[in-house]
Amino acid sequence: MTGFIEFARACKVIEATPGSLDMTALVAELLEQVTPEELPVVTHFVMGEVFPAWSSEEIGVGAGILYNALAKSAGLSVSDIKELVRETGDIGETAVRALKKVSGGQATFSSFLDSSDELSIIEVFERFKAISKASGKGSQTSKIKNLQYLFNAASPEEVSYIARLAVEELRIGVGEGIVRDAISRAFDVPAEYIERAFMLTNDLGLVASTASTEGRNGVLSLGLRLNRPIRMMLAQVTPSLDAAISDIGIVAVEWKFDGARVQIHKDGDNVTLFSRRLENITDSLPDIVEAVKENVIADRAILDGEAVAIDENGRPRAFQEILKRFRRKYDVQSTARDIPLTLNLFDIIFLNGEELLDLPLVQRRARLAECVRSSDKIRVDTQYLTDDPRKILEIYNDALKAGHEGVMIKNPESAYSPGKRGKNWLKKKPVMETLDLVVIGAQWGYGRRTSFLGSYALACHDPDTGLFLPVGRVATGFSDEQLAELTELFADLIVVESGTEVEIKPEVIFEVAFEEIQKSSNYESGYALRFPRLVNVRADKSIEDVETIGRLEEMYLMQRERN
Ligand code: AMP
Repeated sequence: MTGFIEFARACKVIEATPGSLDMTALVAELLEQVTPEELPVVTHFVMGEVFPAWSSEEIGVGAGILYNALAKSAGLSVSDIKELVRETGDIGETAVRALKKVSGGQATFSSFLDSSDELSIIEVFERFKAISKASGKGSQTSKIKNLQYLFNAASPEEVSYIARLAVEELRIGVGEGIVRDAISRAFDVPAEYIERAFMLTNDLGLVASTASTEGRNGVLSLGLRLNRPIRMMLAQVTPSLDAAISDIGIVAVEWKFDGARVQIHKDGDNVTLFSRRLENITDSLPDIVEAVKENVIADRAILDGEAVAIDENGRPRAFQEILKRFRRKYDVQSTARDIPLTLNLFDIIFLNGEELLDLPLVQRRARLAECVRSSDKIRVDTQYLTDDPRKILEIYNDALKAGHEGVMIKNPESAYSPGKRGKNWLKKKPVMETLDLVVIGAQWGYGRRTSFLGSYALACHDPDTGLFLPVGRVATGFSDEQLAELTELFADLIVVESGTEVEIKPEVIFEVAFEEIQKSSNYESGYALRFPRLVNVRADKSIEDVETIGRLEEMYLMQRERN
């Protein structure tokens, strides 16, 4: 059994290492060193995750619970802890300082314990699991007690990483890319194999243990599994129809439906639905479950589509309406009656034991059409094959007239690439593109709005470093009701508070409109938005969808050309 101290020490070294190659080597060393049982746990831990992203298990510890547990363990008040957070700006350092105070400045912690009492990696994981299982009345207390146990049993070197892991904010700069390369290096399996297995299983912990025990053949044989979501294939903006045609030739054109993505797993009579964020949303959409059972003529299948909320005339309703359906936990049936949905299927990934990912799109589409009986709830819409820009424009105008967003222009020969945003799926929408940015901070308001968080700090993503780079703030476009809702939503995501400024764990995506992108030295991204305003809170999107710095650069250059 490996001690948690080994993990903590490795984190400390990785944190202080600047280059990603060196970091990869260190992570590889760590993965090689742990036992098979510990390997999946450490793989997730090192990325700051406790459970795989697809799993419905969640640790559910926010700043409130963590501060409480620290206060109790250290015999301090919650405001003392908050004060420490303000001073240090870091939850790990706060934990270390708080607990040092208990022992009068001596770093004693568990040094009173003999080495058999040393915390092991698995023990920490088991405690986190117990924390995640606590629910209902008394769950706060139970979570706090379990955290207290960990803080009391940990040494100063460990405490910082326990605190950071508890809120899933490890911040040692290790993301999926580094872990993928580290697994490849540690167990001598090509990085492409690891990447593919990850896209299909969505679980780097599982990929790492397979690589270690079964090598490259084991990793190659990892495939889709019904009822475990696969990353969705994503689209990128096309600068023009002509560019798309000259790149691809004959293109497959479909309406871009104005709704929300659903991945459907049919396993006999058992239907499971996942959102774009890969959350299990089956219970919220019983009407879709029924429609799939009745109209999908396949015993086992994984399908991809867009659910659209429709009004009495069959036209799509506002995006917020569909989210009301997706998030619903109570009164599901009556909400289903109030906001009916139709499901537009556009892809098939798996059919009766056969993986279809590598089939060309047109062939997948034919297979899809064969196994769906169209009804008013569920359909496979027309896919047009053309290389005539006028025809595409016509389809595009029809889609807009019907109230949808525009068109998708796809490469008819392309495979289904899970988790990829590439040239094989292009989207064309009419308005000035909006940006999907992640909220990384906020400010407590003034006057009438003192109890609301507002003025949200936004960031784009730098895939090379894995960092989120600030691009400015958005403070307009919010109703009072929305501000109240957002304040509640962000309460659990607050990492550090200092005066009226709040740092927020990057998780929530705002779709933001703006007049112009400007170069700016005020923000780390090097860009700023002129007159940003909130269009939508994109609860359906996750941090993988956050616009990259490259995209901002591209939009900036395009805008300069137009002017
Ligand atoms: P965006 O949300 O702007 O990145 O656009 C991509 C999204 O459009 C996908 O994730 C789907 O939710 C949605 N969509 C609507 N119609 C289609 C379609 N025919 N093919 C693929 N995606 C579609």
